[in-house]
Amino acid sequence: MKAISVLGSTGSIGTQTLQIVEEFPSQFKVVALTAGRNLTLLVDQIQRHKPEVVSLADESLIPELRERLKSLSPEIPLSEFPELLGGKDGLNQAASWDKADLVVTGIVGCAGLLPTLAAIKAGKDLALANKETLIAAGPVVLPQLKISGSRLLPADSEHSAIFQCLQGTPWIENARLSTGVPTPGLRRIQLTASGGAFREWSVEDLEKATVDDATSHPNWSMGRKITVDSATLMNKGLEVIEAHYLFGIDYDHIEIVIHPQSIIHSMVELSDSSVLAQLGWPDMKLPILYCMSWPNRFETPWKRLNLTDVGALTFLSPDTKKYPCVELAYSAGRAGGTMPAVLNAANEKAVELFLQEKIHFLDIPKVIELACERHKRDLNYHPNLEEVLVVDSWARKFVDEIVEKGISQQFHQGFN
Ligand code: NDP
Repeated sequence: MKAISVLGSTGSIGTQTLQIVEEFPSQFKVVALTAGRNLTLLVDQIQRHKPEVVSLADESLIPELRERLKSLSPEIPLSEFPELLGGKDGLNQAASWDKADLVVTGIVGCAGLLPTLAAIKAGKDLALANKETLIAAGPVVLPQLKISGSRLLPADSEHSAIFQCLQGTPWIENARLSTGVPTPGLRRIQLTASGGAFREWSVEDLEKATVDDATSHPNWSMGRKITVDSATLMNKGLEVIEAHYLFGIDYDHIEIVIHPQSIIHSMVELSDSSVLAQLGWPDMKLPILYCMSWPNRFETPWKRLNLTDVGALTFLSPDTKKYPCVELAYSAGRAGGTMPAVLNAANEKAVELFLQEKIHFLDIPKVIELACERHKRDLNYHPNLEEVLVVDSWARKFVDEIVEKGISQQFHQGFN
């Protein structure tokens, strides 16, 4: 039986991971859960899964969590109470919990960085959903993997597709599981994208985009931040950088293809011009389960794919005028060093402000561009963890400042 820690258990990735655990009770058990603030769901998860340790990002909520659990007694006898931890240290301790075999990283944003690093330092295998961690700190995370021997299994559906396509090829033995070493024989990666909430909208119509519009995804059910990232296509841009770090392939050989049906989850072209693709209904449980069962495959009763039900699969190039975040991500990735950390932090902050209706949807790429431009003069090609964290908080503060001063004015004035 595999012991699983779920970071961000109350989120979309976390709850789907726990559904899988419940579907395969003889294969998986939960030893650690972490959440941000959602006590109601967390208490329910504790009752169902009886983890050894639970950690809350907001440690001020621990007394309330303890009281809620006590009120469930005798349903949960005191002797079966999990250890309760909180704050950054608590998240790190839960992430590196001794009994865990696999840590599923479902925390949203760069808040997942330190717990992910704690898990890697403890030598745990990871099911990586929290892509922001790798994007912000690829130059820090990849060397740590080599030191600890942790394996990074991609839970993002596109990277899982690539990973699955690369199974069984002799050269993947050398490069798989994310050491950032180029994968020999891999000529090109094609990441598929649904096109997000605004796929059918014209560039002009985006002027009218609201928070409700941007948070309604046509194909996938996900947390709010990644749903907005899908609407701007920044999610795909972040995935380009993620693919670069995971599979060691240069940016000229990673392409984005809009595929509205979300049936092909990504493709690889090999050196002999063969193209391999992985197909399935859009359901995150599939890539999460693959991380959990890897290198095995489990029998599931999940909906099977009949291509005749789908009819047609279509493909388009992304419209870079409509989706400026794509180019921003490629150029941050190519710049390397701390630039992806700035891109990521500026995007997180911009999406947060958009969800609070403090900026418009079309302002998101503008503030990211301003932050990346300003960072050029301070770009650090070989950052350590401290330097990544400094840059991350600088970019958030910078976005706050330019929003306060007025984005359009800043944008037209330039960067000096
Ligand atoms: P959600 O917003 O649904 O969930 C986020 C989780 O993180 C919640 O458990 C939340 O806790 C917790 N959390 C929030 N802030 C903090 C913090 N500061 N410290 C610790 N924990 C925190 O996000 P998703 O599940 O959609 O996404 C999670 C990650 O997975 C993201 O990086 C996303 O890009 C990636 N991903 C998601 C996919 C999906 O289908 N959802 C697909 C592919 C990748 P609480 O709610 O209790 O406050």
